[in-house]
Amino acid sequence: MNQEPIKKEKILEELIEFKEKDLKFSDGRILGSMCTSANSLAKKVFYDFLDSNLGDPGLFEGTQSLEEEVINDIGSLLSLEKPYGNIVTGGTEANLMAIRAARNLAREEKNIGNIAADEYIVPELIVPKSAHFSFEKAADVLSLKLVEADLDENYQVDIGSVKDNINDNTIAIVGIAGTTELGVIDPIKDLSKIATRNNIYLHVDAAFGGFSIPFLKDLGYEIPKFDFSLDGVCSITVDPHKMGLAPIPSGCILFRDKKYLEIMAVEAPYLTTKEQSTLVGTRLGAPVAATWAVMQYMGREGYGENANECMINTHFLADSLSKEGFELTVEPKLNIVSFNHPKIPTDDLAKMLEKEGWMVSVSSYPKAIRIILMNHIKHNHMVEFLDTLDEIKANLDIK
Ligand SMILES: *Cc1c(COP(=O)(O)O)cnc(C)c1O
Repeated sequence: MNQEPIKKEKILEELIEFKEKDLKFSDGRILGSMCTSANSLAKKVFYDFLDSNLGDPGLFEGTQSLEEEVINDIGSLLSLEKPYGNIVTGGTEANLMAIRAARNLAREEKNIGNIAADEYIVPELIVPKSAHFSFEKAADVLSLKLVEADLDENYQVDIGSVKDNINDNTIAIVGIAGTTELGVIDPIKDLSKIATRNNIYLHVDAAFGGFSIPFLKDLGYEIPKFDFSLDGVCSITVDPHKMGLAPIPSGCILFRDKKYLEIMAVEAPYLTTKEQSTLVGTRLGAPVAATWAVMQYMGREGYGENANECMINTHFLADSLSKEGFELTVEPKLNIVSFNHPKIPTDDLAKMLEKEGWMVSVSSYPKAIRIILMNHIKHNHMVEFLDTLDEIKANLDIK
């Protein structure tokens, strides 16, 4: 590193060069991201709260109150009057916290995964094959066996397969409300029944769907129940930094009961609190305040408009692609379109699109082009995108 201090102006100048190499959401070319440009008020608030540390909340009681309010507000979206939980860095950390709570509970109540027991039982976690890779990390960190349940023809988790995989060592089942690759919503009601009947923890990963499904329901979209209104659901992950328009990093973990936080609390000797259940110690207050601000600013109505606009663009793209001879993997339920062309290999198509400046992503199961219609993508961007696809087909002599 430099020995002598460098002048502020020079530093800022140099940073511009780096920033110019980053892509901008506003160009409408980032088609494969679940994040988007954060709300501008939220960005300002984020900066204002950068010094606040929720790892030591006794010093930052104002920010702590904001966290309680955000948790309560998100709880009200998910049919839970008194939620417990935290704003964390994202879906990955939220999922890890949920599974940690489930593991600790199973250790205490069922002696599964207890290193002090006479015989060590490896805890098992059942996730849909479509689960986000964060569960692989959670299983690794917590030393769990990860069991993948099959999907049905609609790419929802197959209930029969979940049932078949349950055994005495199962510590939790995961259902997804808005899969990362396809935006598919699992039959959470059925999972809830199974979980309750077998006395197994059920976690719902709504990292992507959590900030759109409740608002789409308000608007009359037909989406089945997925939240705490189902008795078996113990926890839900929601990412404000995706459809919630909050700045990164903002994820949220909500628990139905305080016991899930308590079961993983450790003593925090030198701080203003006695116990800590979060994974990180020093913890950003900025995303909490920013998430609080953007939620106030948008309201249910504003989020409804945002989610609805994204869905209108989604249906426009999906319908246009179908007319142009592309095949949709599923009818979109949320704002993700997944497609292929019967005559063009997926990876080739992705490369050709990238060459034309379109940053698409390719899903793994099934292999397909995956477009996430976040609110930085407008109608005109999709018209231009469809033009590019037309040109690609013409160049390949495909009608
Ligand atoms: C994005 C996503 C995650 C991971 O969230 P991060 O914020 O990237 O850590 C987890 N689950 C689902 C369903 C997601 O879409």
